[in-house]
Order: sequence, then C-alpha cells, then structure tokens
Amino acid sequence: VKEESSGSCRFFDTTMGDKLRERRTIEQDLRQALQDDQLYLVYQPQAKIGTGEVTGFEALLRWKHPVRGDVPPGLFIPIAEESNLILTLGEWVLRTACREAASWTRPLTIAVNVSTRQLIDEGLAELVQSILADTNLSPQRLEIEVTETALISDPSRARQTLKRVKALGVTIAMDDFGTGYSSLSNVREFPLDKIKIDRSFIKAVHANKQAAAIVRAVRLLCDGLGLPVIAEGVETADELRFLINEGFTDAQGYLLGAPVPASDIGPLVFENVIP
Ligand code: C2E
Ligand code: CA
Ligand code: CA
Ligand code: CA
Repeated sequence: VKEESSGSCRFFDTTMGDKLRERRTIEQDLRQALQDDQLYLVYQPQAKIGTGEVTGFEALLRWKHPVRGDVPPGLFIPIAEESNLILTLGEWVLRTACREAASWTRPLTIAVNVSTRQLIDEGLAELVQSILADTNLSPQRLEIEVTETALISDPSRARQTLKRVKALGVTIAMDDFGTGYSSLSNVREFPLDKIKIDRSFIKAVHANKQAAAIVRAVRLLCDGLGLPVIAEGVETADELRFLINEGFTDAQGYLLGAPVPASDIGPLVFENVIP
C-alpha cells in the first residue's frame, strides 16, 4: 500500500468512524430520552378545504435533548430505524398519541406514523389492539401512516400486518404518495383507506407543469378507486386555490396550521382553520 493512498484512506476512515460514533451516541441518548421524558408529540391539524373544519391531527415526534436542544426527527428516526429501538420508540408514540387523543373534547382522528420495522413486526396488530383498549380510544379514530418504501420492504408480511390492523377498525393511510419506489400497483395490492399526496408535488404545482399534472392525476386515480386523498404540505393560498380547483377536499400544511404541543390542542379541535 502506497503512503499516499493509506493517508487518504486513514482520513476517510476517521470521518466514517466519527459518523459511526455520532450515530452510536445519538442511539444511546435516545434510549435515555425515553426514560427521562425528553420526548413529546406535536400535533398538526388536517382540515376540510371548503370549511376549514379540523377533522384530525397527525402526531409528530419531537426530542428535546438536554445539551443538543431540539433534534429533528429526520435525524434521529433513521438512526432508531437501524435497530430495534424504533420498536420501543414506535410503541411510545402510538401509546402517547392514543392516550392524548382520547382526552380531546371532540372525537377527531389521530394519525400516527409507523416505520418499516414496526410494519413487518409480527406483534403490531396485537400491540395496536392493546393500546386502543388501554387508552379507551375508538379504533375508528386511529389512522396508521405507512410509506411505500415500508410496504415494499417485505410486501407479503406488510400486507398481512395491515390486514390485521385494518380488521380492528383502524384506518390505513399511504404517506408521501408519489415519492420513493412508487408503483401504482401498490394502491391495489395493499389494504389502503386513504392516500396522502407528498408535499414535494404540492410545493411545485405552480413552478412545474409535471407536478401539477401528477397532482391532478393522483386525484383522479383516488376518485376512481374510491380512496380519500389529502394534500400534504400546503403552504400558500395559491396552492390551496389550485387544490380547490382540482377538486381536493382535504389538506394539511403550515397554511392550515403548524404542529402544536398537546397542551395547545384544546381550542383547536373546534377551530376552523380557513386561511
Ligand atoms: P411526514 O410523516 O411526511 O410528516 C410531515 C412532515 O412535514 C413533518 O416534519 C411536518 O412538520 C412537516 N410539514 C407539515 N406541513 C408542512 C408544510 O406546509 N411545509 C413544510 N415545509 N413542512 C411541513 P417533521 O415533524 O420534521 O417530521 C419529518 C418526518 O419524520 C416525518 O415526515 C416522518 O417521516 C418522520 N416522523 C415524525 N414523527 C414520527 C413518528 O412518530 N414515527 C415515525 N416512524 N416517523 C416519524
Ligand atoms: Ca406522515
Ligand atoms: Ca408525509
Ligand atoms: Ca416524509
């Protein structure tokens, strides 16, 4: 091995090593976070476009690290997903979301994100069932959000799990629709009740003819299949107008409301979030 290449190799190894150490630290801290109450959920409203009536909320995980401050879920969830830690975390999210939603003064829906490992775990349906029983939440109020990537990682297992979760009366929503390894056959091959069209298309509807065509086509597809569809990440009045013109009835996004902590939900369940 030449001096030069081993030198650059050593440099490479060091940064790789740093990355690994960083991940391991985050994983350890996350285990601690579960015990020390550093995790909490925020809730983002979903609403009818026409009236602004709030129909439900999506639960989003937050972590307030004692030293690092707020750690974004996009950073720590992928790390948790590399180990069984995501199962513990996912169970905490499900239980907390169901418990908090059970205390709302109107029976709105609560959407919870479920990751790949949870979806292919044998015990998910039983877990959901026992959490619903423990928290006294009606299954009709719970919505599970799954991504296409999660579905295709082990399609037959995912299909089985979803069937059993759905049999409880829980709604299954496909998240981030149109991204990842998107295939139209997925909407037929999995027991889905609802489609969430990804934010990347919504934010491009005015700049990009293709994005507008895709949003339009997804709405037609969902209509044809009898599947409700909700537009994600609506930020501007122009985007909302586009969606209304295209016949959308439901939306989520900063324009309608940013995620709020559980303590701020009270008045929101009665609010009309017409921008
Ligand atoms: P997601 O499931 O697609 O959630 C929507 C994300 O978009 C959230 O980011 C939300 O805050 C953000 N968002 C909502 N409206 C707007 C908008 O109008 N504009 C923009 N720019 N963003 C908007 P967040 O909370 O940072 O979560 C990121 C991702 O982390 C989520 O994407 C989801 O994949 C994952 N995640 C969050 N909480 C959980 C959880 O409890 N379990 C699992 N498995 N994943 C979670
Ligand atoms: Ca989601
Ligand atoms: Ca999404
Ligand atoms: Ca996403």
